[in-house]
Amino acid sequence: MLPPGSTIGILGGGQLGRMMAVAAIQLGYRVIGYSPPGDNVAAEVCTDFFANGWGDKAALAAFAQKCDVITWEFENVPLKAVEALPQDRIAPHPRALETAQDRLNEKRFAEAQGARPAPYAAAATEADFKAAVERIGAPGILKTAREGYDGKGQWRVQSLKEADAVRFPGKPCVYEGFVDFEAEFSVILVRGEDGEVRYWDSPANVHQDGMLASSTLPAGALIAAQVEEARSIAAKVAAALGYIGVLTLEFFATSDGPVFNEMAPRVHNSGHWTIEGAATSQFENHIRAICGLPLGSTDTRFAHVEMRNIVGPDALTAHTMLAEEGEPHLHLYGKAEAKEGRKMGHVTRVSNAGPIA
Ligand code: AMP
Repeated sequence: MLPPGSTIGILGGGQLGRMMAVAAIQLGYRVIGYSPPGDNVAAEVCTDFFANGWGDKAALAAFAQKCDVITWEFENVPLKAVEALPQDRIAPHPRALETAQDRLNEKRFAEAQGARPAPYAAAATEADFKAAVERIGAPGILKTAREGYDGKGQWRVQSLKEADAVRFPGKPCVYEGFVDFEAEFSVILVRGEDGEVRYWDSPANVHQDGMLASSTLPAGALIAAQVEEARSIAAKVAAALGYIGVLTLEFFATSDGPVFNEMAPRVHNSGHWTIEGAATSQFENHIRAICGLPLGSTDTRFAHVEMRNIVGPDALTAHTMLAEEGEPHLHLYGKAEAKEGRKMGHVTRVSNAGPIA
């Protein structure tokens, strides 16, 4: 168990790091962040923050020297930077990053653990892409293998003809068939040093323009019927990675069972509701796991929970949401500019009475 007063290093400076740091501070730890210069909203709540590039070996060494354990809040931290850090102090194991940074690796790895993804094919070149569309058919989605998030680096292909109009991005991609899903959900689990696994309830996730818009509990009968199978896949993935901390797997609920979409080796937007809606939040349990503390209960505390993202200029009037039904809890991330399409905050509402209006 890492004693109080120890220092946790967090790679990445976004809202996930910010909420993770708040949880760590509450447990009596100090937090030092590391991320290239930019709108690092985690810096506001860190004891110290290194605004340095991922290739800055000297800064990475100085950062590591101050940290008792190092984790990440952002899965695109370059592996080279992670490799420059003391390996025995990093949690989860960097192999989780390596697996999740490439969609192709990730799908193959998940498949090996029993997951069923949508039909997919590697598309390193435009010719591969055309061949993949021929083979898998349309509609489908072309996704860059690396560095896509929130629907960025994705192009929908509605018909075979339309594939000709898609400008191939010139980097390795994956083409996958469009899944005719009824709903989407995520499995978020925490795995401790000793291999103990706890799951939060799986909310129904609704996306807009490729970005999460809301997560709602209870998730409904269809999702409820598929959670067990999805959990068992997630647990296998976690065990195969020797994972310590919070891990997320996203699924499509189809009439044919759960179809694996992707994994995130970190806390996840669809778990923000756990701050007020669960006995222990995903952020706190991640910190507990990487510090070797007893894990907290993941039980849901309310009959109804809804988390809604606040995107772009809506953040400017977000305080009016405090007057909504359902004991609204507002989280604003302190980002400098409320740009269109940018995640600025979220609001969680809870109720034991009935569905939230
Ligand atoms: P991703 O970044 O891959 O999670 O994609 C973001 C969102 O786009 C997903 O949560 C879905 O709503 C949608 N999406 C991605 N891939 C597919 C697919 N193969 N079939 C249907 N919808 C998809």
